[in-house]
Amino acid sequence: MLVALLNGARTFAALAQKGPTYDCPGCGQVVTLKKGLKVIHHFAHKPPVTCTWAKGETAAHMAAKKLFLDHLRALPRVADVEFPIGTQRADVYALGKNGAPYVFEMQHQPITEQDIARRTQDYFKQGAAVTWLPLIDLSKLTTKKTATGHIIERYSPKPFEKWLQGFNFKELWYVEPSTGLLWQGKFDKAMLEVAYSEWHVSGGGTESAGGYSRPSKRWRKLTLTGPFTLAQLNITTTRRQSSSVGTHFYPQGNRIVFVPKSPVPSPPKE
Ligand SMILES: [Zn+2]
Repeated sequence: MLVALLNGARTFAALAQKGPTYDCPGCGQVVTLKKGLKVIHHFAHKPPVTCTWAKGETAAHMAAKKLFLDHLRALPRVADVEFPIGTQRADVYALGKNGAPYVFEMQHQPITEQDIARRTQDYFKQGAAVTWLPLIDLSKLTTKKTATGHIIERYSPKPFEKWLQGFNFKELWYVEPSTGLLWQGKFDKAMLEVAYSEWHVSGGGTESAGGYSRPSKRWRKLTLTGPFTLAQLNITTTRRQSSSVGTHFYPQGNRIVFVPKSPVPSPPKE
């Protein structure tokens, strides 16, 4: 976690000094300040950890939160992380020019479709605009470089990513914590070749099968356009009507959208 309480006041790990006692905002237990050279400065519970406030949090997740926090504060905007809104804790929270709250959720843990829909609806009820950003690590994927980004022919989206592409009308924005860059993602069907084969049957005839392609249930083709730095994107909102598509439910509210300031992304890095 990036924020703990010092005498009841929210304190950022990046600005905290070793010495005083820091408490978890969730459970109130004492947490330890970690200030290393390689990891993002953060607070951690002492084992055994029974608190769910920062359950399953990874260095990549903290890096993604800090990326947005630093950008939003530099704009400058009122911005915070791990911020309570209603009964939830927003990964990144900010106020727009008109004072309207924005919530950015960085997601790479499994979350069910029902949970992501319900959490989105709860934020909408609090009057917040919402977006969800899956994390990605291109160094761990087999990608084909293109003039405008990358193609991943066999990408296995998590259920929440399938929900999200409907929520965002076929667009997903991925955050790459290792580089601090964003990618605009789009799913297409991944076609599987069913090999052609023939065989002889009793009586002297020949039968055959295959020789066609079919869409994979598991895989999608993921096209990534970019990369973009946050500074190369306008962050705005658009109204979304509620809808149900198949098994997906989408609540009504303001959706955060990222609009590239220039349609041409910066050249892909080696
Ligand atoms: Zn705790």
